[in-house]
Amino acid sequence: MQQELGFSDEDIQSKEFLLYVTGNANIENSKPFAMCYAGHQFGNWAGQLGDGRAINLGEIKNWALQLKGAGPTPYSRTADGLAVLRSSIREYLCSEAMHHLGIPSTRSLSISLTGDQVLRDVLYNGNPAYEKGAIVSRVAKTFLRFGNFEIFAARNDLKNLKTLTDYTIKNHFPRLGNPCKEVYLKFFQEVTNKTLEMIIHWQRVGFVHGVMNTDNMSILGLTIDYGPYGWLEGFDLGWTPNTTDKQHKRYRYGNQPNIGLWNLYQLANALYPLINAAAPLEKILEGYKSSFAQKSLEMMRAKLGLFLAEKTDINLIQSLEDNLQVIEIDMTIFFRLLSSFKKEQPEKGIELIQDAFYTPDKLVGEILNDWKHWFDSYAKRLEKENISYEEREQRMKTTNPKYVLRNYMAQLAIDKADKGDVSLVKEVYELLKKPYSEQPEFEHWFAKRPEWARHKVGCSMLSCSS
Ligand code: AMP
Ligand code: MG
Repeated sequence: MQQELGFSDEDIQSKEFLLYVTGNANIENSKPFAMCYAGHQFGNWAGQLGDGRAINLGEIKNWALQLKGAGPTPYSRTADGLAVLRSSIREYLCSEAMHHLGIPSTRSLSISLTGDQVLRDVLYNGNPAYEKGAIVSRVAKTFLRFGNFEIFAARNDLKNLKTLTDYTIKNHFPRLGNPCKEVYLKFFQEVTNKTLEMIIHWQRVGFVHGVMNTDNMSILGLTIDYGPYGWLEGFDLGWTPNTTDKQHKRYRYGNQPNIGLWNLYQLANALYPLINAAAPLEKILEGYKSSFAQKSLEMMRAKLGLFLAEKTDINLIQSLEDNLQVIEIDMTIFFRLLSSFKKEQPEKGIELIQDAFYTPDKLVGEILNDWKHWFDSYAKRLEKENISYEEREQRMKTTNPKYVLRNYMAQLAIDKADKGDVSLVKEVYELLKKPYSEQPEFEHWFAKRPEWARHKVGCSMLSCSS
């Protein structure tokens, strides 16, 4: 991010830079601010929220720069405005990892310790403890959220709703033309497309956001607000890393596309007073459903190395998902290994993906037969493709990453950093800059989650405490 903002190495090592990114000095002529927004949280209207611990410093080369965890703002309510090292490392590493995976995201420029001790109850179970405070400086073209629009609609403040929407269109969607009813609809269509695109990417790599409240939905379709997110290890449509959502699992992996749509309904309601017609908004929302089905199919085809469109692909994909769901199998490793499948040798399929199974001893009887059957069908389907093995493998490897930010990797990096050693944060950061490349020096990270991490706090269990 340093280059995009035009900072030299010298700049970022300067005392001045440190003062700016820790909130100890203001950039000349700038007026830092926190934003007011509202939101629907876990399906309910939550009213006014706002940047409780994010402070916008201003813009550099059209990029907005924001500090997260620099202290109270007018919207902190009863909270402290601070962030801990644990959650800051998680935000820093994951936002950069997403960017390098080709997934729209806010970016991170820096992470700093504040020297404060911050009290947090990690699992909200009555065990508060002090943790090191930290600040991430993060960057995006804008940090506007669905909730920024919802607040004005909820207050029936149409003047500000219009000002905000016009500002957003002029600055971030200028090619849509001058704001008017028609352009507001085009704007909503664009936000719908971008939101869908982002979620399809999440599904592709097995990313689960964890808190898809409308205040955490970027108007640019960026992945934003890295809290209790997680990465699928065993493929499981019902998985969520967020213990706060344990009961209903509203934000589980398989439900993210539906929630994207639900959130877009809330945005449509907020924009409605500018348009005064429900039908065209509903049409766009209906379109999301069919586009989702289509784009999701295309994404799965790419993951399987299918470049022609066959009607029966949907069945092949469905039976694969059924198989993946039945026995615990590492999603990232499975798809990466599958890239090297040879259609001439379907009987070697199981052997090829052996290392992806968490419980290979369960691979017997009907389960084994289903897998064998699937590999046979897959091999037959690949016969219809007219690209070489090498080309398919290479293309699949640009869709199926080798390295993602496994939950336990982030936790190991955090544990070390907490003791003052940031070497693992740096290693993981380097690794995740090239998630699709082999990187033999990092091969040890191409491994299933170790057993100790299965139920460890921070690895499989996370909360919003940050
Ligand atoms: P989240 O679900 O983490 O995105 O946060 C929901 C709301 O709580 C947002 O308005 C945040 O700004 C606010 N919030 C979260 N943590 C803090 C904190 N430590 N201090 C102040 N506000 C916070
Ligand atoms: Mg948030």
